[in-house]
Amino acid sequence: MSETVLGIIGGGQLGSMMASTAKKLNIKTIIFCDDKDAPAQKFCDQFIYANYEDEKAINKFAELTNIVTFEFENIPFESLDKINKIKPVLPNPSIIKIIQNRLLEKDFINKLNIKTTQYASVKNENNILKNQNFLPAILKTCTLGYDGKGQYKINSIEDLKSLKIDFSKDYILEKLINLKKEISVIVTRFEHKQYEIYEPFENTHEDQILISSKIPAEISDKIINKSKLWTKQIAEELDYIGTLCVEFFIDVNDNLYVNEIAPRVHNSGHLTINSHNISQFENHIRAICSLEKKKTKKLFNAKMVNLIGNDILIYREKKFTENEFFFDYLKEEIKPKRKMGHITTIKK
Ligand code: ADP
Ligand code: MG
Repeated sequence: MSETVLGIIGGGQLGSMMASTAKKLNIKTIIFCDDKDAPAQKFCDQFIYANYEDEKAINKFAELTNIVTFEFENIPFESLDKINKIKPVLPNPSIIKIIQNRLLEKDFINKLNIKTTQYASVKNENNILKNQNFLPAILKTCTLGYDGKGQYKINSIEDLKSLKIDFSKDYILEKLINLKKEISVIVTRFEHKQYEIYEPFENTHEDQILISSKIPAEISDKIINKSKLWTKQIAEELDYIGTLCVEFFIDVNDNLYVNEIAPRVHNSGHLTINSHNISQFENHIRAICSLEKKKTKKLFNAKMVNLIGNDILIYREKKFTENEFFFDYLKEEIKPKRKMGHITTIKK
C-alpha cells in the first residue's frame, strides 16, 4: 500500500501537534497555511504558503495529499468544498458550514433538545432594544470570532452608545450566564456509534481566553454523564469523523448549557498528550486515516496552563521536574494575548 499523506489546513500550534503526532504514526504531512511564518512548518514534511482562496494552491495541495483535515473552523467553506471534490476532507465541510455561524450552530444544538443560553439574531440596534430582557448579555459576531474576538458585553442599553458596534456584520445576542464553572468534553468519532471519549476538562478563562484545563473536573456525576451524552449526540447527529470538542457552561444553579462546538482538536485537550495513552491528536488521526481504534485510557490526572504573551520567556529559562511537560509553539513573534506555549503537570 502506498503511504498516506495527510493534508492539514492551518499552521498554528494545533497544526504542529497534529503533524508531529502523524509523524509518530508514520504518516507524512503537508501543511497549507496563509502565514509564511506558521510554526507548524517546522513539524511537517512539506509546507504550502498561500492564501486560502488561491485556486492553484488548493489544487496542488489536494493533488499531493490523500486525506485533508484542518486546525481551525474559519477556513472559507468554498475552499474546503473544492478540496473535498478532489480528496476527502474530514470532518466533512458541510459540518463547518453550520459551526462557522454561531446562529446556525445554536439552532442546530437546540433542535437536538440540548440546552444553550437564550439567544437572538441581531442585525441592527433595534433588535437589541427589542431583546432588552436578555441584558446583561454578550453580543458576538456570527462568524470569524475566536478567543473572545468580535464580542461586546452589554450590561444595559446605555452601553450601546459607547460601544460603537459595526452593524455591517451579523450578530448573535446571548444572555449572560451566571457562571459557576466551564467544562469541555472531547470525543473522537470513528464511525456509527464508535467513539473514544475523554472525561470532562474543567477550564478557566481570563479575558475570554482559555488559561487552564484540568482533570478531574470538580463536578457532579450527573453533569459528567449529561455532558458526555450530549457530546456524543452532537457528534452522531453531525455524522462526524475525527476529534470534536464541545464547550459547556455550568451556572450557579448547576444547570448545564452547551456554549459552542469546535469541529477539531481543542486547546483544552492538550493535557491528553501526557495524561492518556492516546491523545486527542492521535485519536483524530486514527479516525480520519481509518487506522485501528484503540481503547483510550487515563494514566494520570493532570493540569495544563497556557503560556500567553511574554509568560513564555520565563518558561524558556526554567528547569522542569519529571512530572512537568513544557511545550513551546516556536512562534516567530511574541504578542500580548497570543498563545505561545503550554505546560502540563501530571499527578502520579
Ligand atoms: P470564542 O469563540 O471566542 O471561544 P465563546 O463564545 O466561547 O467565544 O466565548 C469565550 C468565553 O467568554 C467563554 O468561554 C466564557 O468564559 C465567556 N462567555 C461567552 N458567552 C457567555 C455567556 N453567554 N455567558 C457567560 N459567559 C460567556
Ligand atoms: Mg469558546
